[in-house]
Amino acid sequence: MPNSSCPRPPSECRVTRRQFQGALVKGAAAAWASVCAFGSLASLASVGSRAKADDDNSQSNKPSRPGPYVDVHTHLGQTWNSTEPLTAEELLRWMDAHGVEQAVVLPLVSPEASSYPITTDFVLAQTAPHRDRLVPFCSIDPRTSFGGGQQGLVDMLRRYVDAGARGFGEHKPGIDIDDPRNLRLYAACNELKLPLLFHIDNERNMDTPGLPGLARALKEAPDCTFIGHGPGWWASISADAQQADLGGYPKGPVAEGGAIDKLMDEFPNLRGDLSAGSGAGAISRDLEFGRKFLIRRADRLMFGTDFLAPGQAVPQFELFEETIELPAEVANKIFRENARKVLGLA
Ligand SMILES: [Zn+2]
Repeated sequence: MPNSSCPRPPSECRVTRRQFQGALVKGAAAAWASVCAFGSLASLASVGSRAKADDDNSQSNKPSRPGPYVDVHTHLGQTWNSTEPLTAEELLRWMDAHGVEQAVVLPLVSPEASSYPITTDFVLAQTAPHRDRLVPFCSIDPRTSFGGGQQGLVDMLRRYVDAGARGFGEHKPGIDIDDPRNLRLYAACNELKLPLLFHIDNERNMDTPGLPGLARALKEAPDCTFIGHGPGWWASISADAQQADLGGYPKGPVAEGGAIDKLMDEFPNLRGDLSAGSGAGAISRDLEFGRKFLIRRADRLMFGTDFLAPGQAVPQFELFEETIELPAEVANKIFRENARKVLGLA
């Protein structure tokens, strides 16, 4: 939307993303308004790629129009002993700088998930003053003691839902993904129709190539939307993924027919979270496949970063704003609308 205070028409805007971020870092919002054709932050976030398109003399009618984003994967507090703690205010400032309108904040309660436990109650309290932008999830380790049978577990989750939780995760316990203790958690999420964001690697939610354990989970909890994340999930974009790949970051060409595609064909309750090095790497390891995959699975994929510490580098912005240009309709779904639907915000 053109801003009347801008001295130039949009077609002449030559401001790069880096200049845009620099202006924000310097707190020079007013100075920015004097050089940019766009008034709102959400519009500002899209300027980088438009300017790049201008510089490239690109005539594309379908810019990816990145942002405003809904980020389905962030954390607050101190996650690792090697990272600094992140406050809600710092997260909100980072969101402003990158055109992220809303972010899901995920607890980490399993000992395998982080160096310090980040409890659901902490996440609910930290997000409480900012619920218009920070969307809390809840989590329970599947090895937790509880009474009352399956109903007891459902009641524990319902307490969190009543306090504002809109999903379950980050689910990252050091047991098999189809361990009976996990299956009863999925059944509880299924009963409450809570979306569940899970991490797979060779130490957490373990599975084997082809992800047969995940298939069992998807089948047993059809009303639960499962959101895949992590090395084991993303390595499974390729049909040739080996067991070691499920714990790493495989590079090189993707072989068609990977477990992600097969499971997405079979189970409508499966989504993918593009966050972290694993999500960015799955797309960037084979850009030709990656772009087609994003377009083909435009209804199933959601933007995410796994931002959890001040100053953390996030590869998703460069990937989606400098490297891959998506049709506007695809970008709209992946960058925000799919998440809004899953989170019940649409
Ligand atoms: Zn995470």
